[in-house]
Amino acid sequence: MTIGKIWIGFITLTLVWGMFASTPTMAAAAQPQNRDDDVEWYSIANNVYQLRYEHHYTLFVVTDKGVVAFDPLSDEAAEHYVHAIKTVAPGQPLLAVIYSHWHTDHATGANVLRRAFGGDVPIIAHERTLARLKELDDNAIPLPTRTVTDKGETLRFGDTDIELHYIGYGHTDTLLVARLPKQKMVYVVDFASRDSVGWREMPGWPLDELIAMQRRLLDLDFDKVAFGHGRAGPGDRETIKRQTLYYENLLGEARSAIREGLSEDDAVIRAAYDLPQYRGWGNYKRWFRLNVRGAYRWVQEHESPVKHR
Ligand SMILES: [Zn+2]
Repeated sequence: MTIGKIWIGFITLTLVWGMFASTPTMAAAAQPQNRDDDVEWYSIANNVYQLRYEHHYTLFVVTDKGVVAFDPLSDEAAEHYVHAIKTVAPGQPLLAVIYSHWHTDHATGANVLRRAFGGDVPIIAHERTLARLKELDDNAIPLPTRTVTDKGETLRFGDTDIELHYIGYGHTDTLLVARLPKQKMVYVVDFASRDSVGWREMPGWPLDELIAMQRRLLDLDFDKVAFGHGRAGPGDRETIKRQTLYYENLLGEARSAIREGLSEDDAVIRAAYDLPQYRGWGNYKRWFRLNVRGAYRWVQEHESPVKHR
């Protein structure tokens, strides 16, 4: 029931955001284009559109030569993605699909885009995304046709440059951050979210590198951030700093709990009192306590000289 309330609040927030995001010139495209609570899309910057499907977001960019689409998310989401692109940019070709990283909840769905826009639409990703997807060998996820190394690359699509940056292994070693220089925007998937806590116990997350990667992100020149998860709409540089502070706070709680000999359960209880500022964040009720457990275990494993009994 509480989750239901949060969900309704979330939908309301996204719809309200959609209205604020509208400008007179983009009004037709910027209003949510459907009555389905699971999906909507809206403009978040000049010629940039965010599509939400359930709790995932993706992004597409309209250039003077056609459209570039990031993560297609899933076959179901991609059906809506096709509709959104054709509504916003009728008759325009799809110039490329870009996978942010290899995880299947972001990379699936390109078959549907290719069915709608042409079987030869290139798919661009980090070279290790190609390697992982080859190993995975899943027909639902067509392989990248063009890859980018750790050095990154600037791609030109008509009048629009899209920079792809590799800035660390905080969320797999395959993740590319896209920067749109004209809009001074970056697209950030999974290693930071908009005012939301981390996923469950953050299994396998390299928390030190996650924080370092968020800091490296701030070396790029941008004002706006489009996220793959979290609160709807774009964030900004402060949103990234709030994420970093959150993970630092989690680690700080874990370190002091371990230093004082508190059990994991007691660390959870104390962290809930010590960090009340996160109670309004996305997924707080579902995952905050699990995040504390994850941070406690991470510190034990990576920093604590005394291993847990
Ligand atoms: Zn991921």
